[in-house]
Amino acid sequence: MHLSRFPRLHFAHLPTPLEPLERISKHLDGPNLWIKRDDCTGLSSGGNKTRKLEFLMAEAIEQGADTIITQGATQSNHARQTCAAAARLGQECHILLEDRTGYHDEAYAHNGNVLLDQLHGGSISLRPADSDMNAEMEHLAQQLRDDGKKPYVIPGGGSNETGALGYVNAAFELTHQANERSLQIDHLLHATGSAGTQAGLVVGMQAMNSGIPVYGVGVNAAKQQQEEKVFDLAQRTLDFMDLSQGLVAREDVVANSDYVGEGYGLPTDSMVEAVKMLASFEGILLDPVYAGKGFAGLIDLVRKGHFKKGENVVFLHTGGSVSLFAYPKIFDLPGYS
Ligand SMILES: *Cc1c(COP(=O)(O)O)cnc(C)c1O
Repeated sequence: MHLSRFPRLHFAHLPTPLEPLERISKHLDGPNLWIKRDDCTGLSSGGNKTRKLEFLMAEAIEQGADTIITQGATQSNHARQTCAAAARLGQECHILLEDRTGYHDEAYAHNGNVLLDQLHGGSISLRPADSDMNAEMEHLAQQLRDDGKKPYVIPGGGSNETGALGYVNAAFELTHQANERSLQIDHLLHATGSAGTQAGLVVGMQAMNSGIPVYGVGVNAAKQQQEEKVFDLAQRTLDFMDLSQGLVAREDVVANSDYVGEGYGLPTDSMVEAVKMLASFEGILLDPVYAGKGFAGLIDLVRKGHFKKGENVVFLHTGGSVSLFAYPKIFDLPGYS
């Protein structure tokens, strides 16, 4: 498969490292755990949106855009990486942030991703919870067009068939890395939200016939709904790539929404444990909204005996650690009550 048919810019630090989690594997006494470091993609403290943005921003430039619009939750990692990519390419960037958690304390409203959005020169406007964010973006795009601008609208999470190509490519990259070191990957897990990461990975793994199953740990929607969202985007991505839609079957898309807790962006005890465990055993930072809940799912599945001893389980770290600074009080640390 030849992804060079699609326009792409190169600003991510690739390939990202694939590292063993030796101390945690020993501590949990289960399978061999590995981590794929997509928190190290290079742009503005990294994260999974950067791979998608290489394809999305190339399409924007190809279409003659001078202004980028996107949306996310207040502490959106996607909005932050989009502001950074736009800065790098000399594009104006407007982001619409939806108040999905109802948190308005100083750290949540102004630190973490929100601070970085502004350092990258992004214009932020806030929207209440449950706004129709696509309609809000279209409305803003029309205003900008009326002002003579050429806006390019990126959907939430960068999750359309163009953005998903970034994770088709990541599936190739990871499989190649494993082949180079004769590592047989038995399972691949990651946090899944707007679905582009999982859809791209599933398409890439199936197109290569890698035999590596992809397991999404949900952070928002219920299992069935999340799987449908991923499957739908996988089908559209196959179509976009001129591949047979039969390459991905419905049962190739697996999500587990047991670790969401009360809702999107709301802390859980198992997430706090996971963040502390990776920080204190491996020196690696997760985040409270996505990778922390994803890794909490992995820990629980290991404890329940879901994986066999000797199997190799890769956790794809999708980034987001700057949002730790938006939640300084949830870790029960001295001086932060
Ligand atoms: C966006 C994001 C995800 C989820 O990826 P999707 O492609 O939206 O499913 C996971 N982790 C982090 C840190 C993210 O920012």
